[in-house]
This record gives sequence, C-alpha cells and structure tokens, in this order.
Amino acid sequence: TKYVYDFSEGNKDLKGLLGGKGANLAEMNNLGLPVPPGFTITTEACKAYLDSGEAPAQLRDEVSAHLSALEERMGKKLGQADDPLLVSVRSGAKFSMPGMMDTVLNIGLSDESVHGLAAQSGDERFAWDSYRRLIQMFGDTVLGIHGERFAETLEEAKTARGATTDVDLSAEALKELVTKFKNIVSEETGRDFPQDPREQMDLAVRAVFDSWNGSRARLYRRQERIPHDLGTAVNICSMVFGNLGPDSGTGVAFTRDPASGQQGVYGDYLQNAQGEDVVAGIRNTVPLADLEALDKASYDQLMQIMETLENHYRDLCDIEFTIERGKLWMLQTRVGKRTAAAAFRIATQLVDQGLIDEAEALRRVNGSQLAQLMFPRFDAGGGVENADQIGWGIAASPGAAVGKAVFDSYTAIKWSRSGEKVILIRRETNPDDLDGMLAAEGILTSRGGKTSHAAVVARGMGKTCVCGAEELEVDTKRRCLKAPGGKVVEEGDVVSIDGSTGKVYAGEVPVVPSPVVEYFEGRMHAGADDADELVKAVHRIMAYADRVRRLRVRANADNAEDAARARRFGAQGIGLCRTEHMFLGERRELVERLILADTEEERKRALHALLPLQQGDFVELFESMDGLPVTVRLLDPPLHEFLPDITELSVRVALAESRKDANENDLRLLQAVHRLHEQNPMLGLRGVRLGLVIPGLFTMQIRAIAEAAAERKAGGGDPRAEIMIPLVGTVQELELVREEAEEVINEVEQERGVDLGLSLGTMIELPRAALTAGQIAECADFFSFGTNDLTQTVWAFSRDDVEASFFTAYLEKGIFGVSPFETIDKDGVGSLVRSAAEAGRATRPDLKLGVCGEHGGDPESVHFFHEVGLDYVSCSPFRIPVARLEAGRAAA
Ligand code: PEP
Ligand code: MG
Repeated sequence: TKYVYDFSEGNKDLKGLLGGKGANLAEMNNLGLPVPPGFTITTEACKAYLDSGEAPAQLRDEVSAHLSALEERMGKKLGQADDPLLVSVRSGAKFSMPGMMDTVLNIGLSDESVHGLAAQSGDERFAWDSYRRLIQMFGDTVLGIHGERFAETLEEAKTARGATTDVDLSAEALKELVTKFKNIVSEETGRDFPQDPREQMDLAVRAVFDSWNGSRARLYRRQERIPHDLGTAVNICSMVFGNLGPDSGTGVAFTRDPASGQQGVYGDYLQNAQGEDVVAGIRNTVPLADLEALDKASYDQLMQIMETLENHYRDLCDIEFTIERGKLWMLQTRVGKRTAAAAFRIATQLVDQGLIDEAEALRRVNGSQLAQLMFPRFDAGGGVENADQIGWGIAASPGAAVGKAVFDSYTAIKWSRSGEKVILIRRETNPDDLDGMLAAEGILTSRGGKTSHAAVVARGMGKTCVCGAEELEVDTKRRCLKAPGGKVVEEGDVVSIDGSTGKVYAGEVPVVPSPVVEYFEGRMHAGADDADELVKAVHRIMAYADRVRRLRVRANADNAEDAARARRFGAQGIGLCRTEHMFLGERRELVERLILADTEEERKRALHALLPLQQGDFVELFESMDGLPVTVRLLDPPLHEFLPDITELSVRVALAESRKDANENDLRLLQAVHRLHEQNPMLGLRGVRLGLVIPGLFTMQIRAIAEAAAERKAGGGDPRAEIMIPLVGTVQELELVREEAEEVINEVEQERGVDLGLSLGTMIELPRAALTAGQIAECADFFSFGTNDLTQTVWAFSRDDVEASFFTAYLEKGIFGVSPFETIDKDGVGSLVRSAAEAGRATRPDLKLGVCGEHGGDPESVHFFHEVGLDYVSCSPFRIPVARLEAGRAAA
C-alpha cells in the first residue's frame, strides 16, 4: 500500500482514501487552480495506526520522501532557521464530522526560525504573530490545553496595550505573548513547547488520527450510522500567509447565495488575517464584493475560479482562499451546504444552465427540505427584521409560533383551554410536561440540545421548538424569562419563537403561511408571472418526481375535509381511514350503548343506530375520493377507549353511593369498565378480535361501506372501496371475517342490483402476521403494513410511552440516531416487511402491497418501501408532497 499522495496524484473521486478535503485539493490542483503544494496521508495510514497503536514504519519513510520533495520544490526546509518552510496540518475524513481535530497552522516555527521568518518577510510583527498562533492552536488541538487559557491571555495583552484588535498588537507585545503562551504549555503539560519542526508535524498528524476516536466523533458516527473503521486522512499543505499586511487577507466564498440560491457574489473577506480569524469572528469581515476595490486582480481571478469550480462540480461550491501579498491561493473547496429554499432553486437553475439533468435535480433536493418549506414562517416583509430578538437557541423543530409566555404545564393547559395561545417556557422538559407541550403552540427551553426531551418530543408532535437558548435565564419561581440585555419577559407577555432558525423574540411577530403550501393548496399558481421563484422551482421538481416515481402515494384520512386536502396535495387515494375516529364526539354514547347491551335486542338497536351515521361518513369520503381507492379499516382500538376513565368513574359512583343516589347507568358503566379493563390493552381485545367476539359489529361496518358504495354508484359516482381488517395474526381470523363479509356484500349487491367491486385485505402489523404472510395472502386481496404496531410489537416498545420516557437516553447513547417510530428500522422491522412482501406475492402474484404506518411519510423509509417493491405508501395529508418527492427520488 501507498500511504501518502501528493496533491497532484489524487482526484475528487478518492474521498474514501484521501478524505473530502484532500480529494478536492487534488481536484483543484488538477484543474490548474493555484493550490499551495502539499500532500495527503491516507485514511489507510490512519487505520493502520489505530489498529496497532503505532504509525507504520513505512508511513514515516513515505512522509519523509514527500516532505523532501516539497522542500526541494519550495527551495527551503521545514523549520529551517534562516528561511523556514511552514506547513498546515488539517484533518479530512470522507464525511465531515463534528468532534474531530481540525487545523494547526504555521508548523515549523520555533524560537530560532521565527527570526528567519521575520528576516525573510521583512516583517517582525508578522513572524511573532504567526508563532503565537502556532502555540495557541497546537496547545489547544494537539496538546489538549483548554483554548480559554490562551484566549484570556490574548485578551489581557490587548487590554494592557489598549489594543482593540489583535492587529493593533506590536511585534514586541506579540513576543511577550509568545513567552506567556509557552509558559502555559509548560505548566499544563509539564513539557516545553516542542522546538523540532518534524516532531511538531508528527505530533499534529498523530493528534488528527487520535481525534477519529474522540468521544464526540464516536457518538456522531453511532447516531449517523457512519462506520467506525473508515479513519481520517491528514493534509499537509505548505503555508501561504494572509497576515502579511494590508495586501494580504483571507476569506470564504460561495459560488451563489446559499440562503436563496441567487447567483452573485457571496462571501466574507478579512484583510491581514489568517484563516481561523474569519470563522472565530475576531474582527469584522467585509463583504466579498469589497475585495474588488481592495485588490482587483485577485478579485477577478477569484470570480473566474468560482465559475470554473461551479461548472466542474456542477453545483454550488464553497471556498476558502488566502491572498498573500497580492497572490491568490485556494485552500479548500467542497460542494456547499445550503438552505432548503436554495436547494430547490439551485437544482432548477442548474437544469436550465444545462449542467445537470432532471434526475440529478431530484437527487439534489430532499423531503425534509420540502417539509421545512411547508411550515408557516415569520413574515419577512412584515417586520421580522425589526422584531425584538432577545435570544437564540437551537432550531429543534421547525415552524413559527407566537403565544403568551407560560412557565409550567399546568398554566399552559389552563390557559389554552380558555382559548389563549401559549408558548411553554421551561429550563428543560420532562415527561410530566407532555400535556403542557401538547397544549402549547411552541416550546422554548434554555438547556439541552437536539436530542433533549423537549426537542425529541416536539418533533414527534410536530410542534415548533427552540431548545438550549442558554443566554436566556428561565426563572420558574418568579415566572419570568431574563434576556442578556436586562429585558424580562413575564408570564402572559407575548413571545415569538422560530423553530427553523432558533431565534426568540419578545412580542408578536406576524406569521404568514408558507408559499409552498399556498401552492399545493391551489391558492398560488406556479405559472403566474409574479409567482414566487421558489414556488416555480418546487412545481418543476414535483413534476419530475411524479413522472418517474413508481410508488403511488395515498393519504391517511378519515373525513371528507382531510380527504379533499389530501387530493389537492396529490394523494392517489386513501390508504387508511381509521373508522374509530367516526365513533367519537356525540356518537360515543351510541358505542357505549353497544358495549352495555345485555340482550341481543339492545345490541341490534345500538348497531342499527350507528349504521346510517357510518354510511353517511363513507358516502362523503367516497365522493371526495371519487375514482380513487379508499381503504376503510374496521374498528381497531380496545373498547374501553370509548368508556369513561376508570378512576374518574369509580370516584363519581362512590360519591353518589355515599349520597345514596347512584344512578343505574353509571353502575352498569362501571361494571363494564371493570369487565373490559386490561393490563395491556394494546395486546388485548382490539382489532379483528373485537370483530370476532362482538356479534354484528364488523357486519354493521361492512354493510355501511357496501351501502355507501351502492349509493354512490346509483348517483353516478365511481367508488372504489377496500375493506381492511386490523391486527390479524393468523389466516383463520381473516377467513372468518371474509365469510361474514361476503355474505353481507352479496346481500347488498343483490338488493341494489349492482356489482360493487369491493376488495378485502388485511393489515400486517403483528410479527406473526408477517411470519405467516404466505398463508394470510391466500385470504387477502391486499396487505397494508401497519408499521406503527409492527414496530411496537417487534421491539416491545410501547408506542405511547417510550419516546417521552427513555428515548432521549437511547439517542444520546447513540443506540439509534432516530426513533424507530419515525424512520423504519430496516434491519429488524424492515426485514419482516421485506420477507412478508415476498411471501405474500409468492402466494398471490397480484397481491397489492402498501404501508400506512407513520413511516409512509418519512423520507428515508419511503426509499426503503420503494426498494422492497411496495405499490404505495400512505401518510397524513401534509406529508403527501414529501412522500411524492421521495418516491421520485427513490426511482430517479
Ligand atoms: C399501524 O399500526 O401502523 C397503523 C397504521 O394503525 P394504527 O396507527 O391506527 O394502530
Ligand atoms: Mg395499528
């Protein structure tokens, strides 16, 4: 193996071997762009080091050979006393990863060579500044000394000299600072700062290797499922200097606006500075456009290079560059990060420029970006710039929320019941806050990150959330929020939070609906001349997606309003109508009567009363989805859900009894509640089991479906109903229901003289159903995977409890990067889906296959269902565009 590659030996496709940074440096070198000479130590070398705990001998030799070649080329030796070659050492893995060592600049400076650098550059100040930077960065990243120690000492030096920025420090002052920094190193490590340049370099390389196994890097990889054995590359690059005076500087640039996607000149430039200053925000940068006035030649060259890079990478690139005494150098490039809106606009712009095709455009955007664009937002034209921003936290769950500040869940619930909109503000949340979070418009916490309880639960609920706004002090005793400037938000004061940016405002900031939702709703037309550029881009990309996707997309909807919205959003039918939702409200009482019925007669009467109501619901639903399939699922939840809470009712009856006026109905109810009480209701009498033990229940529902379909047909409609049986575990259950169903359907068909074309299928949501799918398919026209219950039963995770109780800990420990209720667990639950689909189709090749669990609208899961070969996914109406897009991406 070869462990070291000169920049001239690599290219952009070698990211696995050379890391992202190294591969792109090589690519720029090959394009003839001005890259300072250097070489890359491969990820293979890192792996060999990590395996044995020692750098392979061969690596040392190869590095020596490449270093000699570099020295030859540059005409000076690393750290040479009278004219030192200096290098930077930078990490660069295949994927950029937080928690890994980043950069050490100016390696090769020592007590001796600092004088050589001063003499050669003719700039004493520059030489000492470079040396103090080396000790500072090396101390922090290689020796593990807390960066604060250096930063504080630098601040003290500035204060002592009355300097406002580091540029104001004289050579003399910097020299003193170097002595102080070296003392810090000796104090903290018990060793002097290493003076041998090769030792500096080797230690820095080793520190990069070691940082691959830092705890933050490991956690990140566990969560993102990045293999632990990839290793990182290390780039050794000859230094160019942006801190050599006013004709030098350093900057970052984007080939187009990463916020909006607009083409133009975007970036920041900092005169007389080295790379880390721009990021650290030490001095104020100027807009990149100002460089034109400062150094026209470099500016023009940079613009040219940016164009070259865009055409070459066929995408937005971001760039780091340095100008050394009027000469431009490229230090890094990569395909740049961008906002969701920019991603859509850039993808269509690149199609128009002929740089990419439509399939590639689809790959360049994704469903979570589209989902972000669908949240309401603060009105950019309505004064959000002038709003009173009091803090900033982590953008944990997107959207814009406005409401009165409350500091405990009890108040949140009480106020929201009386019609107030509230924002729940807590230091952090815990499971006791669940009801408060549900009642609130949004949640704000001062502690915790993206996997904190507040963040995880809010995302699950689809609530706006800003967490970890650390500069805001939450005083729960005094019920107020204290902002840094002394501003105080009291309970009841209005606050606005932006879950897409993390910004927190005092007062009400106007909210506008997303233009993308306006477009999907049909209230904004992409073809109009004044249509939003973003809407036009979304329109085009959705059209590509619809053209190529193989998966159909249906909606989970159980009323005509949701169905109509779903249809506007592009649904091709209903994949799940949960009929239990039709039994709530005023109808609950009818269900109660059914449960309490003592005699056959009473039961029949209750069912008879429910029949026309159900039928009416179905007529509406079939009408709004005319011509498209509608899967109606028969009653699923345990019956006790329709009865009063056991504790409340017991108390009521006990009180009444003590007053000797207990009412007959309450007593019967209480008996029923006791009779139906189960330790594990989710594993109890529900789904098909209900249908088999409560005579007439399923028959009534099936009749309502058949009658509704007949009614629509008679009215000239085109109903396409599918009857779905929940919680089936064995084919025998399904056979019994099918016999009963066919009888009823035949009856209705004969009475009405029509062929209703009804099909009957089952949910696959229990492990046993998945394992015996081949048998079950003999009795089913279709399968719909209920991945909510399937996840619950495969993992034995209560879907109603675990996300709020211990998932935060599981996410923090990296056991999974995302909840298995959100993204399908491919290896476990997913493998059951795959084998059941195969077994089902083996029995019955025309078996229709779909999924209606929450995963049907989750981007990553949609790709999985495509790959497994399902016919459709079904998801909530708002997720339909996301599912369409991802189904297109999966097929593109
Ligand atoms: C499921 O279990 O995945 C499902 C769709 O049914 P429900 O969520 O109603 O249990
Ligand atoms: Mg279910």
